Amino acid sequence: MRIVSLAGGIGGARFLRGLRSAAPDAEITVIGNTGDDITLFGLRVCPDLDTVMYTLGGGINEEQGWGRTGESHVVKDELAAYGMEPQWFGLGDKDIATHIVRTQMLNAGYPLSAITEALCARWQPGVRLIPMTDDRAETHVVINDEQGRRAVHFQEWWVRLRASVPAEQIVLVGADDAKPAPGVIEALDEADVVILPPSNPVVSIGTILQIPGIREAVEKKTVVGVSPIIGGAPVRGMADACLTAIGVETSAQAVLELYGSRLLDGWLVAEEDEGVALEGVRVVARPLLMTDPQATADIARAALELAR
Ligand code: GDP
Ligand code: CA
Repeated sequence: MRIVSLAGGIGGARFLRGLRSAAPDAEITVIGNTGDDITLFGLRVCPDLDTVMYTLGGGINEEQGWGRTGESHVVKDELAAYGMEPQWFGLGDKDIATHIVRTQMLNAGYPLSAITEALCARWQPGVRLIPMTDDRAETHVVINDEQGRRAVHFQEWWVRLRASVPAEQIVLVGADDAKPAPGVIEALDEADVVILPPSNPVVSIGTILQIPGIREAVEKKTVVGVSPIIGGAPVRGMADACLTAIGVETSAQAVLELYGSRLLDGWLVAEEDEGVALEGVRVVARPLLMTDPQATADIARAALELAR
């Protein structure tokens, strides 16, 4: 069986670990979000690709959900001692090595998709990980605070401001001119099923779907989504701030309507959200908390069953 999954960071990566164990014989292709990518201190950082790679490769900091296990922060502290900004982004020493390799290869002319493949040769994630695009398309957020109305990089809003300032608009800058990375459309065309993990519907899944051609290729397929919202809350993180920014309520029903019946064929919701419905979409209620690998594999199995 060929499965394609779109994925953001923590929610996507955890779900994929369950999917991999629920479908050990399947060929899984992951289309990763690169809208969160940022250049810091001259280094190209791809947080969501790395979260997927480290999680599936066994190098993730489990408690945190991102970054490397057994990490130190000597470089970050040294940069801060020089007064270098930004100081709000948590760059670990081991993680920096990944960014150095990536940046060196980018400077040598390799596309991000080829670099991601090279990095995965070390981590052996057990899936094929492809960035949504090799082109630069970064999410920016329009905010209005004491410094006035302006657009900041998504990471500045998310990490520095902890999404505490309301977002007036969320824009994927560069989306119109971006092309899907090599292999993305091919993988979708050949897929038996497309699974949308419980990733952020706005700045993870929504971002990937904005790359011209991807939404159309996904719509042609049998698509099952797993709700990232349980009982009106985003379980962990601040996804509600992103939904509010685009005028969508934080509920499994509203996210189902946001994705819509053109995209989705099946929608997996938590048991407390039983009753959620939309014409043309089959809705099934199951426990959706990814508390441990076993529970997560059960969620993935339920998604595959629903697809069948
Ligand atoms: P990010 O890029 O690191 O923010 O990660 P993703 O976009 O892949 O996923 C973040 C989303 O995962 C959050 O908005 C949560 O709604 C969702 N999430 C986290 N843990 C769980 C869980 O245990 N169950 C479900 N259903 N969703 C979860
Ligand atoms: Ca992310």
